Amino acid sequence: MLKNSDVIAQMRQLIQLIAKHNHAYYVMDQPSISDNEYDQLFHQLKALEQQYPELLQPDTPTNKVGGQPLSKFQTVTHVVPMLSLGNVFNQEELFAFARRIEERLPNQQVEYDVELKLDGLAISLWYENGVLIRGVTRGDGETGEDISQNVKTIRNLPKYLSHNPVEIPQLLEVRGEVLMPKLGFERLNAANEAKGEKTFANPRNAAAGSLRQLDPNIAASRPLAFYAYGIAQCEPHHGLASMHESLHWLTQLGFEIAERQFLCSSIQEVQQRYEQIQQERPNLSVEIDGMVIKVDDLKQQQQLGFLSREPRWATAYKFPAEIARTTVENIDWQVGRTGTLTPVARLQPVLVGGVTVSNVTLHNIGEIHRLDVRVGDQVSVYRSGDVIPKVERVWPEFRSADAQIVQLPENCPVCSSPVVMPEGEALARCSGGLYCAAQRIEAIRHFVSRKALDIEGLGDRWVESLLHLDLLKDVADIYHLHEHRDTLLGIEKMGEKSVQNLIDAIENSKKTTLARFIYALGIRGVGETTARMLANTFQTLEALKLADIEALKKTPDVGDITAEWILDFFLAPHNLEVLDRLLAAGIHWDAPTAPTRQPLNGESWVVTGTLSTMGRDDATQRLQALGARVSGSVSSKTKCVVAGEKAGSKLDKAEKLDIPVMNEQEFLEFLAQYEN
Ligand SMILES: [Zn+2]
Repeated sequence: MLKNSDVIAQMRQLIQLIAKHNHAYYVMDQPSISDNEYDQLFHQLKALEQQYPELLQPDTPTNKVGGQPLSKFQTVTHVVPMLSLGNVFNQEELFAFARRIEERLPNQQVEYDVELKLDGLAISLWYENGVLIRGVTRGDGETGEDISQNVKTIRNLPKYLSHNPVEIPQLLEVRGEVLMPKLGFERLNAANEAKGEKTFANPRNAAAGSLRQLDPNIAASRPLAFYAYGIAQCEPHHGLASMHESLHWLTQLGFEIAERQFLCSSIQEVQQRYEQIQQERPNLSVEIDGMVIKVDDLKQQQQLGFLSREPRWATAYKFPAEIARTTVENIDWQVGRTGTLTPVARLQPVLVGGVTVSNVTLHNIGEIHRLDVRVGDQVSVYRSGDVIPKVERVWPEFRSADAQIVQLPENCPVCSSPVVMPEGEALARCSGGLYCAAQRIEAIRHFVSRKALDIEGLGDRWVESLLHLDLLKDVADIYHLHEHRDTLLGIEKMGEKSVQNLIDAIENSKKTTLARFIYALGIRGVGETTARMLANTFQTLEALKLADIEALKKTPDVGDITAEWILDFFLAPHNLEVLDRLLAAGIHWDAPTAPTRQPLNGESWVVTGTLSTMGRDDATQRLQALGARVSGSVSSKTKCVVAGEKAGSKLDKAEKLDIPVMNEQEFLEFLAQYEN
């Protein structure tokens, strides 16, 4: 057995060797060893890690997770990982951050270096003897992409370090942010718009897009800038004592740093600077999303160290969400996959917190009423972090006389079926569930699912291909697929056999039950149990189609809202067309032989405990369908108690009163006698 310290030393050596050869290979384009030798190093490291998983080094190149770089750029391992910062969002959290630091540095004076938190892309620059060798994106913090070619086109970024008045280190790794200043961003977008090309939503996206250009000529044409904020490595050591000295030293080497920077002697002063910059933010030349607070003294930084992957000596102090005012130009209704109609306000594009916002969801008609937003109104739009933009308020004082009140549309904007919204429901829906193109995928998925028509083999992959070929406009088209056998055979990887299996499965599904068929229609609120109740109550599809609201409500398990959904479903003319086509294609079921059986008529049952195969509601409904009354308490009149897991006092009482008890298995067998 090796000593732990020896294992770590070996691991470190291997990691460094691999990084060195990566550098020679990727950056210098001069491999120093053969691929085979490289693989050996890699496997040697892996073997050690498998043997001593507890000693796994955080920067090991064998273990890369998340944030995979694009395949087109070469991947580079950061010798010093690029860490992320913790966040604070208000004064209280800022002061807590400072308290934690001061507790760890008793009797020491702590000063804070306060910098702008630039909203760009972090990169790392590697200089050898004053010459820029490579630039790498942050990537996942462990590995990034080699974007040297593009980095070299950034005008304010030194390709050679200036050696006056400081000495140039042999090795220098500088960290900083690439971004597009506001002015350059506006010019770029204006120029792109004039050429009819794509514009960017915000300066950050524009900078990211430019840095990732494989053609450095394009990157060169983009107004990018680099601002240094730290030193990752320096050999020989620079001998500097503090952050603010480091920044100054970097400017002497030729780097630009962000336009504001403060040295604060107390956390209260940090708070003041934060408030000051919030005021100045619109006038800055670049987008920022907060401030970065660092302990200024480098020795103190070392003493504080890291908590997991975040430095204890630094934090990001984020700005609150931004708000901007703009005009509602229109309100469109979008139809979701389940038929929900969502109002979306089309806005005059406006920059909110650095992002151009031109649409904002209004959620539902209730929200429109609550806000009293009308087409033509001025609204405040608000954004917080990555959260989607929201309408904060409407400005009625700016309302023009021709502002239009928003109405729920009467017909679906996609399929023109009636739109319905039962009282008490928040969301309006398109009633053309079987026909509506917006709901097509969900309708088909549901129709073929196991508890519906159970067409095994018509999985998502098929459905996608068939939709793509326009062979499935609605569920009835499923029964015409056999007419397109040649097309089906042409679908990638679909052999003769799988096509025949599919056609057979479709053919077999034609014989079904009324309950399954009703369930398959995907009527809102009509699950498996309700479908069974409806089949039991109405006996034929014709009777169900003609049922009025009162008749529907008499069905067990059908409340006011579900009754209305059912009625509206059968009132949508397009649904009826699809139904007719389904029946014409040969879907059929046996007519019920006996009238509704209610073998438990008048009996009182109790369900208690947890059932593993169904909810207690489901059990209740199924008993009700058989005519039983389901009661919440056990009495001498109780006919039977269904007891699941963890049944408590009700079971005790049943035993005391000598009332029959069924366990879940017995109950399922009992139901099976009656249910089809
Ligand atoms: Zn529709």
